[in-house]
Amino acid sequence: MKSPWIRSKETRMTSYADFYRRSIDDREGFWREQADLIDWQQPFEQVCDHSHPPFARWFVGGATNLCHNAVDRHVKERGQQNALIFVSTETHQERIYSFAELHTEVQRMSASLLALGVKKGDRVLVYMPMIPEAAFAMLACARIGAIHSVVFGGFASVSLASRIDDAEPTVIVSADAGSRGGKVVAYKPLLDEAITLAAHKPKKVLMVDRGLAPFDRVEGRDEDYAALREQHRHAEVPCEWVESSHPSYTLYTSGTTGKPKGVQRDTGGYAVALAASMKHIFCGRAGETYFSTSDIGWVVGHSYIIYGPLIAGMATIMYEGLPIRPDAAIWWSLVEKYKVTVMFSAPTAVRVLKKQDPAALSKHDLSSLRALFLAGEPLDEPTAKWIAQSLGKPIIDNYWQTETGWPILTICNGIEQAPSKFGSPGKAVYGYDVKLLDEATGEELTGANQKGVVAIAGPLPPGCMQTVWRDDARFVKTYWSSIPGKQLYSTFDWGIRDEDGYFFILGRTDDVINVAGHRLGTREIEESIASHPAVAEVAVVGVADQLKGQVAMAFAVLRDPARAADDASAMKLEGEIMKTVDEQLGAVARPARVRFVSVLPKTRSGKLLRRAIQAVCEGRDPGDLTTMEDPAALQQVKDLVAH
Ligand code: AMP
Repeated sequence: MKSPWIRSKETRMTSYADFYRRSIDDREGFWREQADLIDWQQPFEQVCDHSHPPFARWFVGGATNLCHNAVDRHVKERGQQNALIFVSTETHQERIYSFAELHTEVQRMSASLLALGVKKGDRVLVYMPMIPEAAFAMLACARIGAIHSVVFGGFASVSLASRIDDAEPTVIVSADAGSRGGKVVAYKPLLDEAITLAAHKPKKVLMVDRGLAPFDRVEGRDEDYAALREQHRHAEVPCEWVESSHPSYTLYTSGTTGKPKGVQRDTGGYAVALAASMKHIFCGRAGETYFSTSDIGWVVGHSYIIYGPLIAGMATIMYEGLPIRPDAAIWWSLVEKYKVTVMFSAPTAVRVLKKQDPAALSKHDLSSLRALFLAGEPLDEPTAKWIAQSLGKPIIDNYWQTETGWPILTICNGIEQAPSKFGSPGKAVYGYDVKLLDEATGEELTGANQKGVVAIAGPLPPGCMQTVWRDDARFVKTYWSSIPGKQLYSTFDWGIRDEDGYFFILGRTDDVINVAGHRLGTREIEESIASHPAVAEVAVVGVADQLKGQVAMAFAVLRDPARAADDASAMKLEGEIMKTVDEQLGAVARPARVRFVSVLPKTRSGKLLRRAIQAVCEGRDPGDLTTMEDPAALQQVKDLVAH
């Protein structure tokens, strides 16, 4: 079979081992070359300033703009080619914007934001469904030097309020509603409630009215995008050239505390990292079409729906809808129609497809497709084998995090074609000095097949998080303090590396869970459940699930046990508690079950034994329980799970 990979002239002679080695040993020379993949308005003076570790500044002194690199620079050469392809199987719309049209729309949005008082460095919170205006808003922020903070549309008012308070946006861009499975989900009431809850009040709310859900307008605060767009129809808004380290965006992600962290990303380093990844990892070329099935609310949406493909001069598909509606062939029909060459999805979505009619995958001409990339959660062997056989295309697992913005582990087929191993996302990606650390001693594990914490020696490569928004101390304490005296970034994942340098990820070391590829903090869910007046105390754990990878399972102690005295009242209360989570955090965080116990398993010092609860729920041995306060507590969990 002819190799599906395209390798550029300069990399054709290089082995991946050499390419990788150089990225670590000659970091400056390596990234200086990669920096040529983007446009600089003013050249940088220094490749990497690592004089204040763990903070790293990339391409110091260089001036650039993310929107220029994603849009403007393509207008001359490929202005009439597709840039943004919007497909909604929810509203039955399909709209295509060429690079020239995208350029115009982004300028209209930029002018509107400027008219509402947004200035360079201001935050703009984007709470939007998957519609083109969301992409325009992100690109417009980048264009005018504002910092966007996209909040996933599936989050509800309490999650949204905490992000509003942290980001302190000047303007919030939103829409009347999203739609899921044909059901309209009104956004505006959730947004209004969030603004009421938040201490910070945005000056303006810019509303895109899709005509899906009527909404109330707040006089003097809410603005109509259709009207502003019309006013700025002919706007010409030049790109604001910013220093490479200027923050392009913040994106909130869950950690071990209830308070989400604002992952802050730079401009120049991010643009270079994405451009390089499009070439060496995804092998996408200008003029082709990229299809990522993620959502703009997640990091994959930022890097590989919006910025990465556009920077590479590719058309990107923005899809609003389910993978199985109107039927399980919908994604593949888009691959055929738009001649998609590179596709990116998550294992959960593949597991959903696996339950459908297998004919859906063979109905369409998939000859344009070179590979399917999967990320966000562990890719199990049966799922990988099934999709590889069904599509007859390479399946490329890749492992990374919101914090890094682009893959840490994968196979870089753009450099050297290499086989994948089932269950492994691959080898360390160029730029990442990946180590495995002994959890107890912090010593580096250099032998094959030893289990350790996956860590990265500083500086992190370009494109990774700069810091936690407005909280440098939290950045250092959270990520860089696991091994005192060493500049090592912890991923909080367990891993092993085999004799060939392939890594296997074995799950999180902290209380973060991964439901259908969505990262959630168990503490956030616990806080929400505990806000229900009937609940005295609660423990939430992630439990293995065949479809979603993991689901959240809650065990609650009630103030008055009589509230769950019989099955009917327990079920009623369980429903009420789930509704509380839906309303506060969003359905994405809703636990699969809320079970009631009289006491939670804890150590004698009062620490919740989440891992023991999780083990029992998964039918595993809970391990050493000598420090447990009350053995009967775990028995209660066991009994409930058995029923
Ligand atoms: P997020 O920040 O939401 O992208 O979640 C990052 C976490 O998802 C990682 O720390 C891993 O625990 C998990 N993860 C992401 N990609 C993979 C993968 N390819 N294989 C295994 N786990 C993954």
